[in-house]
Amino acid sequence: MASLGLYNLWKRFGKITAVKGLTLEVKDKEFMVLLGPSGAGKTTTLKLIAGVEKPNDGYIMIGDKVVNATEPHRRNIAMAFETYALYPHFTVYENLAFPLRAPGMRLSAEEIDRRVRRVAEVLNIDMLFDRKPAELSNGQKQRVSLGRTMVREPNVFLLDEPLSHLDAKLRHHMRMEFKRLESSLNTTVVYVTHDYLEALALADRIAVINQGELQQVGTPDEIFNRPANQFVATALGQPEINLIDGDIITESGVPVFVAVDGEFRLEVPRALRAPLGKKGLKKARVGVRPFDIRVAGARGWGVNETETGAGAMRDSEEDRAGKAFVRGRVYVFESLGNKGVLTVQVGKARLSVLTSADFKANVDENITLEVDCNKIMMFDPETTGNIALTMTA
Ligand code: ATP
Repeated sequence: MASLGLYNLWKRFGKITAVKGLTLEVKDKEFMVLLGPSGAGKTTTLKLIAGVEKPNDGYIMIGDKVVNATEPHRRNIAMAFETYALYPHFTVYENLAFPLRAPGMRLSAEEIDRRVRRVAEVLNIDMLFDRKPAELSNGQKQRVSLGRTMVREPNVFLLDEPLSHLDAKLRHHMRMEFKRLESSLNTTVVYVTHDYLEALALADRIAVINQGELQQVGTPDEIFNRPANQFVATALGQPEINLIDGDIITESGVPVFVAVDGEFRLEVPRALRAPLGKKGLKKARVGVRPFDIRVAGARGWGVNETETGAGAMRDSEEDRAGKAFVRGRVYVFESLGNKGVLTVQVGKARLSVLTSADFKANVDENITLEVDCNKIMMFDPETTGNIALTMTA
């Protein structure tokens, strides 16, 4: 158990700068997820923490100790990489017990057995104790590999895409197991993934990284609902958030957003007027999540709400307040079992809309969309920062 601090860390490989001035504090027993696309610098960050790579600049603290000069094996950190070799001639039990039999550990046979069984139970591999690696599926091998790092009960546990090789069903199962593990592990965890659902499901806090730079750190709710910039907004959500560029004009004293090709316009919601006015922006980029748009006349906002809630049909003036209506043509409709994704051509833009499973639409059909204006985000097209947040920052 220990807190972890990264302070202005830099790591260069020749001309490539993999980590650029990263500062991140992970609290004792916190589950921190590093989320970012391929090449963002996530694995390099883990290697710096583990001591496998040395930073060019900055320092790393575990607890109250600077560990830059501490050898990897003295940091009491366990790191599970994507691929982790098992000893082929050992059984699963022996593979799990092996790290605990290292001379420096000085553990009793009972303690070794207790730790092996506890971890095996959590990972659902206790029925495989007598098998050898050749007799395991890839998913089982991966869980044994994970178990081998977990038995050491380290100060900090580093996990690099541990679920990446599993099929969708096992992935979900393991995600749940990790969630359970979180409460019993009592260890600080840094978990790397490029899967935003994994990040939202598991993290106490998420650090979003792009091209070696920290974009935002916050709780899943903060990251999803109050993204610091366009990159963070698009990194979470499938289909991705819709982004529409436009001008800000004033009509009867009220700021109005008009899309570049004029097919989409909406009154700027009250909450965004002050920050927008303060910045004096003439252009803005609106972001609207696919579940905050619905097909006018259809029931339900996206797939989340009931007919009696916000999704019920409404036509009165009062009900139309806070809504913007947009006309377009159906580009394609995909049915995904429990929901549908409708893509609508609006001028030059294509908007994604989440629909209920029973929605039907024909290609090229004219369609009117209703946008919940109070749910939109606005980004500065120059800096890509979230207008609402840069105000308070
Ligand atoms: P992925 O999700 O694909 O694993 P990542 O976010 O973990 O990506 P890193 O593996 O940390 O990214 O790599 C960050 C950048 O540093 C990449 O551009 C990568 O090519 C580069 N890089 C990493 N290790 C080395 C190395 N040993 N030598 C040279 N370049 C490297």
